Amino acid sequence: MVEQMHTHHEVDECVAALHQVHAFLHNELLEADADAIRHHLHACERCMEQYEIETAIEEMIRRAAVAKAPSSLHLKIRSMRIGREVS
Ligand SMILES: [Zn+2]
Repeated sequence: MVEQMHTHHEVDECVAALHQVHAFLHNELLEADADAIRHHLHACERCMEQYEIETAIEEMIRRAAVAKAPSSLHLKIRSMRIGREVS
């Protein structure tokens, strides 16, 4: 998987945090892992930015789903995702 935003200053901690951001958003992490992510997000501006983008995308998808938006919009939204597989 490619972390496009992290090619310049790739830090293991950031990579790990970003890999878990989705699970974190969905409350799928163990409490200890969630704490670690939360802690990292507050300490790391770049990851916090990424987290906010992911949160915004999640919200858009939720609204698009409710509004029964055309699938082209979903594709557009998904293409905005950074370094993440499309499910
Ligand atoms: Zn980070």
